Amino acid sequence: MSDTDLAADPTAAFRSFVERLDADPQAGLILAKFEHGHEPDNWGWCRHPLHTLTNHRERHPCSTTQLVTAIRAAGP
Ligand SMILES: [Zn+2]
Repeated sequence: MSDTDLAADPTAAFRSFVERLDADPQAGLILAKFEHGHEPDNWGWCRHPLHTLTNHRERHPCSTTQLVTAIRAAGP
């Protein structure tokens, strides 16, 4: 599937990303670094500084945590 086709099909793009990541021997480390710091504070908000820098606070699990969870669940 070409990159143009992937852009028109988000599900195929996600699957392609998961397959490419899974082929990387460092996949586990990459996901661990991606989700590092995305933990809840005492009020249930994600405490990662990214949310403060972008002025976009999110409840935990935030979209990043949910994405990592989805990637792990979709892994072959
Ligand atoms: Zn977060």
